[in-house]
Amino acid sequence: MKKIFNYIDGKLVSAKNGDWIDNFEPATGEKYSLIPDSNAEDVEAAFIAAEKAFKSWSVRPVQERSDIMLKIASLIESKQQDLAEAESIDNGKPVDLANAVDIPRASSNMKFFATGILHYASESHQLNEVAINYTLRKPIGVVGCISPWNLPLYLFTWKIAPALAAGNTVIAKPSEITPMTAFLFSEICIEAGLPNGVLNIVHGYGPKVGAPITEHKGIKAISFTGGTKTGEQIAKVAAPMFKKLSLELGGKNPNIIFDDCNFNKAVSVSVLSSFANQGQICLCGSRIFIQEKIYEKFKSEFVKKVKKLTIGDPKNKETKIGAIVSKDHMEKVKSYIDLAQQEGGIILTGGGNRTIEGRCKDGYFLEPTVIEGLPYDCRTNQEEIFGPVVTLNSFKTEEEVLMYANSTKYGLSSTVWTENITKANRMAKALDAGIVWINCWLVRDLRTPFGGVKHSGVGREGGFNAFNFFTEQTNVCISY
Ligand code: NDP
Repeated sequence: MKKIFNYIDGKLVSAKNGDWIDNFEPATGEKYSLIPDSNAEDVEAAFIAAEKAFKSWSVRPVQERSDIMLKIASLIESKQQDLAEAESIDNGKPVDLANAVDIPRASSNMKFFATGILHYASESHQLNEVAINYTLRKPIGVVGCISPWNLPLYLFTWKIAPALAAGNTVIAKPSEITPMTAFLFSEICIEAGLPNGVLNIVHGYGPKVGAPITEHKGIKAISFTGGTKTGEQIAKVAAPMFKKLSLELGGKNPNIIFDDCNFNKAVSVSVLSSFANQGQICLCGSRIFIQEKIYEKFKSEFVKKVKKLTIGDPKNKETKIGAIVSKDHMEKVKSYIDLAQQEGGIILTGGGNRTIEGRCKDGYFLEPTVIEGLPYDCRTNQEEIFGPVVTLNSFKTEEEVLMYANSTKYGLSSTVWTENITKANRMAKALDAGIVWINCWLVRDLRTPFGGVKHSGVGREGGFNAFNFFTEQTNVCISY
């Protein structure tokens, strides 16, 4: 059985207690590897290594830090196919998706922040003839990066790349559900010559590894992506310790279709924004609001296209819907489909498991599910499901749909479909969301601020925002 190891002080090691956790392939339901069942002892070892490494990494010329990160990026590119296959096996996502999105984005993250740091300048302020101020931006120290299972290597690198580029050393914890590509990444770091202790990866359960990272007195900042409830727990621990905190949390994103939209584009992109990665992207539009005049036409075209999505073995090229990440998560999503029916929802397509014959007969497959007839304020329309389930809802006016869209506790992203630019801009301003896409979805420019409002998070990642988070400022004031 393949073993995944922690990466501590430049070495691949088991957990100190020698315990292991089973890792399952979602497409087959079979155990296929073992993960270290680490705890606070391993986090401490990682901390000692990271603290020592900080002394040299933080003062290393920025060009040298950048060069090592670029080497890591190019190794990711050269191992693209292997990494994509590993991500697909570990997560259940179609290998084509991992090949087109997850792995290229992981190397882009490394390249983007490795080169971005070369252009990161600080400010100076002149106070008349009295004094001049300049601002130093210093790395914080040892920082913690905790990431989820839905876009494993993509989100893992999105956090650690700016932290490392800015001169910090890192203790990172990937989700225990999808640890494989983070492990392969540690092998890449060794191959690229990343100095020992600069990045440490500790595998294991959230409460046994994530919590000790959050609680550790010497870890100065926590960058977390995951569920809102976990974010709340982390904030409760970290806030009284005055740690810097970046929280990227859950969403319940509205996808708003006005009757003056480009209809064909709105339908096909909505299929993607509903069901890409089995609906397990924090930015998926899970509540579709359609203006009354085109409701029936949109519903009919949308459902027709959803029915054509190929559900199957993630290894197959033609597969569009792979497996749900775990049995537990599949059960959670199914419980929401049951809830939707209890709340009066009508299932237009999907609604249950799909059995895939052959090697995937015991895999965790769910049909993409479309539901209508639910009030905007019911639980199905308010709580994050994070699976292949969307609701269709009709609206009459802009004011009405704004009220529906903003009615949840979340505010991550929104999508608006209209050919009227004035209306689009008005909506963008009025929506409670960190990101608004107009006539597109998931078009990403890594320089832009990324994050949510309300219970979708605190802080912004992306571009120089990430460097601002991973540095501490000192203002120096010099008298003339
Ligand atoms: P979780 O919150 O369950 O877990 C996220 C990470 O936190 C995992 O590594 C987890 O470990 C760890 N963790 C769990 N408990 C603790 C704890 N007490 N202290 C510290 N760390 C802990 O999220 P999921 O992995 O289930 O991911 C899905 C969620 O992530 C969804 O809500 C989704 O919306 C959100 N998300 C948000 C994004 C954004 O950018 N806003 C992007 C992607 C996802 P373990 O897995 O071992 O429990």
